[in-house]
Amino acid sequence: MTDLAVSIGAHEHRTTTSTIHPASGPAYHIWTIGCQMNQADSRRTAAALDALGFRQVARPEDADLVILNSCVVRQSAEDKVTGRLQSLRALKARHPGTALVLMGCLVGDVQTLRARFPHVDLFLRPSDVEGLLGWVSAQMTEATRPCAFSGYSTEQGLRTAASLGAPAPVSVGVTAMMGCDRHCTYCIVRLRRGPGRSRPPEEIVAEAEALVRSGAREVVLLGQNIDAYGRDLPERPTLASLLRQVHEIPGLLRLRFLTSHPADLEDEVIDTVAALPRVCPHFELPVQAGDDRILRRMGRGHRAADYLALVERIRGRIPDASLATDIIVGFPGETVEEFERTLDLLRTVRFDAVHVACYSVRPGTPAARLPDDVPQEEKERRRRAVEALQEQIVGEINARLLGQEVEVLVEEMHKGKWKGRTPSNKLVFFEHPDDWHGRLVRLRISRAGPWSLQGQMR
Ligand code: SF4
Repeated sequence: MTDLAVSIGAHEHRTTTSTIHPASGPAYHIWTIGCQMNQADSRRTAAALDALGFRQVARPEDADLVILNSCVVRQSAEDKVTGRLQSLRALKARHPGTALVLMGCLVGDVQTLRARFPHVDLFLRPSDVEGLLGWVSAQMTEATRPCAFSGYSTEQGLRTAASLGAPAPVSVGVTAMMGCDRHCTYCIVRLRRGPGRSRPPEEIVAEAEALVRSGAREVVLLGQNIDAYGRDLPERPTLASLLRQVHEIPGLLRLRFLTSHPADLEDEVIDTVAALPRVCPHFELPVQAGDDRILRRMGRGHRAADYLALVERIRGRIPDASLATDIIVGFPGETVEEFERTLDLLRTVRFDAVHVACYSVRPGTPAARLPDDVPQEEKERRRRAVEALQEQIVGEINARLLGQEVEVLVEEMHKGKWKGRTPSNKLVFFEHPDDWHGRLVRLRISRAGPWSLQGQMR
């Protein structure tokens, strides 16, 4: 997966309600939290519901179908989902016809969930968009069902949908692989998403082509452990071959992939990133800890030295490669000295981005059997130490960009400024009266802080 990645870094925790498209027909509302893969699943769900003639609304109160796409990678994410589920109880009591669907990583033991949240109509495992559509279609064609959209004509819906042409975001995630075959001991995502299942390359290319036709300019190939892509398919395609295929889509300006695993990232992928101009030289490469005993207890399958050797190989081949990582602090049994080795590794590698999280026990994982013996205040102290060190490092890295010219893919207008990213995934803001949405622009960096850059057109 990402590793926690999907959870933690690229996986920053995001809560979103997707773009709203006007139309008639039954109304749906999607609430999404968690990783980019959840975001991609919600986008696919929304596109499929639009095609059935549904229209998206911003408030659950206005919807006939409410979908919560959940995340449990950390306790804080799980609490947000359960809080949301509780608050929807009253809505369901007022409007029993509103269908409530829970999907995503909270859906493990359905029987227990059903007892806890009896007002939920359907529980679906992560990424089961097809399951959702099958259920929705069955409700629509059966007029006697209690759902508000039962008896609704799909033909009428499809006619409505034909008039819609939802524009894709400039940067869009496309799921290449679901699940993971690794056994990181802290990871709940692996338990919920199951073993690795790759989508056939033609299916991924077709989805990416459709998105580019709808306005996307950057595709991000997603997988919990994207480097394992294709190992379960009969033709054994590889991430490198997939990158080469998607790279050729006309109109695509940039291609990214995440999340990598240090024990699975192959030299062929590094060479492919180096060779293909539209593949961004950016690696999301979680290390999680800098101490070998902790890495072993985490079941990561690599040592700190292996990781450092891999970073050297990447930088030897792609000198300007940018690297992001995920760190967990306060794993069971982690001593102060062992934690210091994580700081040493950060000083050695000098990452462009570090996503750090305090260890949080996830019931059902092997690590949950270990005593959670690092006190919460100490976990927080370690988290702040990582953040402070990283702020200093990335501040120095970014300061070197001052006065340099960078290429930015512009994603959107944000508080009166255009916002985009460099190939190295750095956020850049600039002001300009023209419409730069979805276009590449060359900017000279005029201000550089640790979290973002300001640019000017020459
Ligand atoms: S088992 Fe490890 S590699 Fe797989 S999804 Fe979990 S953290 Fe990522």
